[in-house]
Amino acid sequence: RCDVKSFLKRNWLLIATVLSVVLGIGLGVLVREYASLSNLDKQYFGFPGELLMRMLKLVILPLIISSMITGVAALDSEVSGRIGLRAVVYYFSTTIIAVVLGILLVTTIKPGVSQSADNIDREGTTPNVTTVDTLLDLVRNMFPENLVQACFQQVRTLMKSTMEPSSNSCYCHTCFQSHACYMPVGILFLIAAKIIEVEDWDIFRKMGLYMVTVLSGLAIHSIIFLPLIYFAFVRKNPYTFALGMAQALVTALMISSSSATLPVTFRCAEENNRIDKRITRFVLPVGATINMDGTALYEAVAAIFIAQLNDFALDVGQIVTISITATVASIGAAGVPNAGLVTMVIVLTAVGLPASDVTLIVAVDWLIDRFRTMINVLGDAFGAGIVQKLSKRELERMDLTSDVDVANP
Ligand code: ASP
Repeated sequence: RCDVKSFLKRNWLLIATVLSVVLGIGLGVLVREYASLSNLDKQYFGFPGELLMRMLKLVILPLIISSMITGVAALDSEVSGRIGLRAVVYYFSTTIIAVVLGILLVTTIKPGVSQSADNIDREGTTPNVTTVDTLLDLVRNMFPENLVQACFQQVRTLMKSTMEPSSNSCYCHTCFQSHACYMPVGILFLIAAKIIEVEDWDIFRKMGLYMVTVLSGLAIHSIIFLPLIYFAFVRKNPYTFALGMAQALVTALMISSSSATLPVTFRCAEENNRIDKRITRFVLPVGATINMDGTALYEAVAAIFIAQLNDFALDVGQIVTISITATVASIGAAGVPNAGLVTMVIVLTAVGLPASDVTLIVAVDWLIDRFRTMINVLGDAFGAGIVQKLSKRELERMDLTSDVDVANP
C-alpha cells in the first residue's frame, strides 16, 4: 500500500492532468449537448483556462533568462574554451537538423489540414503580417512591463541556487510550483471550452496525425541522424552507446525532465560509456539546459500544425522565422516538464498566430513531452561522446600536466 501511496504522491500532477483532460472532454461534451451558451457565457466558461495561459506566459522571460545564465555560468568552468566551442557547435547543428526534419515531416504529412475542402480559405483567417512585423513582435513580446519584476526575482532565485551545487535545477521548479496546483483546473476548462467551440470533429484525426508526425520525427532523429553523426566522429557503434544510456532514457521518459534526469545521465555516460568526467560534468548540464533537439523538433511541428489548423498560409519567410524561433525557444526552455509548451508561445507569436492556440496541443503534451525529453537526453549523451573524441589531445595534455604537478609538487 505504501508503494501505491508514494507512486500517487510522486505522480499526482500527471494523474491530475490526465484526469483533467478526461473530465474536460466530458464536461465539454455535456455542456455542448445540454446547454446552449451565449458567446458571453462561453467567454466566462473559458476564463479558468485563460488564467492558466496567462500564468504560463508570465514565466517565459524569467525561464529564458535564468536558463541562459546557467548555461553561460557553466561555460565559465575550468574546461578549456575549445571544448566548449565544440559542444556548442554540436548543440546548434543537431538542433537545426531536428528543426528542419520536423518542418519537412509536418509539411509533408500535413496533420492539421482538413480533408474536406470547405474549411479552406475561410474569410479573414490569414492575417496580413510580414516577416519583419513578426520578428519585431517577437522582440516586443519579450519585454512586457509586468514581467520585469518577475524576471529579477527569478534571477535572484537562480543566483541562490547556483551557489548551492546540489540544487542546480531547483530554480526551474520554482517557476512551476506557483501554478502547478492550478494546472489541472486550467487544463480542464481549456479543453471543455475548446470542445464547446469545436465545429469540426475531424480534429481528433488531426491530433492523431500530429502526434504521429512528432513521434516519427523524434524516432528518425534518434535512430538515424544522431547515431550517424556519432559514428562519423567516434567510429564506434552508436547503438551500443545508446544502450549504455538506457537507464537515463527510461528515467527521462518517466519524469519528463532532462534536468532531473541528470544524475542518471552522468552515471550512464561515465560508468557504462566511459566518458571522461571532465567532459560529462561540463557538456551534460549545459546540454540539459540548452541542447534540446526533441523540443526544437516538436516546437517547429506544433507551430506549423497550428497554422494548418487555422488555414493560415505560411510563406517561406515565416517558415524560416519558425525554424529560428523554434531553435531559440528550445534553447530557452528549461529542462523541466512542459517547458517546451511554455516557450511555444514565442514561436506562435513570431508568425502572428494566436498564442492561445497552444491550448490545441495541451491535451497531448503530457505524452509528447516524455518522448521529446528522452531525445533531449540522448542528444546530450551523444554530444558528450563526440566532444570527448574530439578533445582527446587536450585531455591527454591536461593529464600529462597533472602528472608533472604530482611528480613535482
Ligand atoms: N521536458 C523537456 C525537458 O526536460 C523540455 C520540454 O518541455 O520540451 O527536456
